[in-house]
Amino acid sequence: MFGSSPAGPGEFELIEQYFRQPGAAAALESEQGAILLGIGDDCAVVDVAAGRKLLMSIDTLVEGVHFLPGTEPDVLGWRSLAVNISDLAAMGADPWCFTLALTLPRTDTHWLREYSQGLFRLAKRFGMHLIGGDTTRGPLTLTLQVQGTLAGAPLTRSGAKPGDLVLVSGTLGDAAAALRFLDLPREAYNDAQQYLRRRYEYPEPRVAIGQKLRGLATAAIDISDGLLADLGHICERSGVGAWIAPAQVPLSAAIRAELPRDDALQCALEGGDDYELCFTLPPDKLRHIQNWVEEGLVTLVGEITSEPGLWLRDPSGQLQVTSSRGYRHFE
Ligand code: ADP
Ligand code: MG
Repeated sequence: MFGSSPAGPGEFELIEQYFRQPGAAAALESEQGAILLGIGDDCAVVDVAAGRKLLMSIDTLVEGVHFLPGTEPDVLGWRSLAVNISDLAAMGADPWCFTLALTLPRTDTHWLREYSQGLFRLAKRFGMHLIGGDTTRGPLTLTLQVQGTLAGAPLTRSGAKPGDLVLVSGTLGDAAAALRFLDLPREAYNDAQQYLRRRYEYPEPRVAIGQKLRGLATAAIDISDGLLADLGHICERSGVGAWIAPAQVPLSAAIRAELPRDDALQCALEGGDDYELCFTLPPDKLRHIQNWVEEGLVTLVGEITSEPGLWLRDPSGQLQVTSSRGYRHFE
């Protein structure tokens, strides 16, 4: 697809230079299984360890749709992998390997160096291996498919029961808040704005939380479209409803400093891109994660109801019907 040219590397050089990672063969064997063939053949070949399930998820980021033209390639490297790992985290899986389909308008060595740096910085955090991909010319599009494994049962969206507690990890709304000043020059940012911007650019997939929730949570999802929309997905798949106490929704100091409370709450409830986890837990399981609750790593925000629908419970205790909108494509 990419002809070799004096101006830059051809497709194969490009893959060798930026995407093949040096690594001992021994590093490719783990309790998850063995990576028998990675980059360089027609297919990658893996041997999943006996008794483990293979979980796969794919996500695409398109320039102009999912990110602004001119977004730093280091950010894209991190983010394009993070949003995929987040799906593994939501199911309680152990991240393992990934493939990368890269569509580039041109061979830009600066872009490739920075992109691959952001990508592998995150991959290394979770010991993930890039085992193959595809490279084509066209409008900038980043498609990654991640693979993870799991010895027991995956966390799904469909197991929430009436009476279960609804919890979320981290703080919500930060990424949505950052979108409000994305076009300001970076030099003009104050500390709170810098913090929010980094939360948008470099989401932290909550892998350790997902792993710990195995066998505890009845349902889980990662928050990519906003708490209401994503909790709505759990409710739909589980055939239940839920209420949320807006006063309990965790907000960062930065979002509280930058936005009036109502705006901050709107970001937290309806804004996407946080990649925190939302999960449901039978009340008697709460003690297993009590230390996380005390440290503020996870926060109790509501409860599952038998009646379908979503409600906001205000401080006076009244329930108010709400519509879960979130961000939807093709509308
Ligand atoms: P094929 O024509 O058989 O699809 P390709 O020429 O597309 O093979 O790719 C050659 C090898 O390089 C394959 O092993 C493929 O998985 C790998 N590869 C291609 N593009 C990428 C990429 N962007 N990142 C990682 N591996 C890649
Ligand atoms: Mg190919």
